[in-house]
Amino acid sequence: MKHLLLHACCAPCSPYVLEKLSREYRVTVFFYNPNIHGPDEYGLRLEEIKRLCKALKLSLIEGPYDPERFFERVGALEHTGEGGQRCGECFQLRLEETFRIADRVGADMVATTLSVSPHKNVEQINRAGNLAQADGQGVLFLEADFKKKDGYRKTCALARDYDFYRQDFCGCSFSRQEREARKDAHRPR
Ligand code: SF4
Repeated sequence: MKHLLLHACCAPCSPYVLEKLSREYRVTVFFYNPNIHGPDEYGLRLEEIKRLCKALKLSLIEGPYDPERFFERVGALEHTGEGGQRCGECFQLRLEETFRIADRVGADMVATTLSVSPHKNVEQINRAGNLAQADGQGVLFLEADFKKKDGYRKTCALARDYDFYRQDFCGCSFSRQEREARKDAHRPR
C-alpha cells in the first residue's frame, strides 16, 4: 500500500477525505496551516485534528506555526481577496511544506483536504499542488475534487457526529475581516 501524506486544513473538512483515502493508501495526516489567524484559533483547530486522528488511530505530524512566513509570502496579495491570487499562494505555501515533509518521511504521494470545501477553487488547489510537486523529489501530488459525489455534505455530517469546532471564516486575518464586513453589510440599519 502506498504511503500518502494528507495535508489537513481543519478537522471538519477531514473525516470524509480520510475515510475515502484510507481505503487505498496508508495515510499520515499533516497539519501545517500558518495562515490561521492567532494562536487561540490555531490551537482550537489543532486540538480537533488531534482528536480525529486519535479516534481513527492515524499518525499526525504537526508542522510549525509560523505565521510570519505566511505574511511574507501572501501579505502583499491581501487585496486580491478570497478566491484570488492570495489564496493560490496560500495553498502553494502549505503544499510546498507538505511535499518537504513527505520527502522526509518517505511518503509516495501528497494530497490535501482543501478541495472538499465548496468555498475554494479546485483548479487553484490542484495547480498549487502540481507546482509544489515540481519542486519535490519524486513524490506525486494526487489531484482531487473531494466535494464531488456529495463529499462536502458527507464531511459536514461526519463533523457533526464528532461535534467538531467549526470556524466561520477560512483562516487568515484577511478572511476574518472580510467575514466581519459581510456581517456588517447584512445587519439591519
Ligand atoms: S482566505 Fe483562506 S485560502 Fe485564502 S489566503 Fe486566507 S486562509 Fe488562505
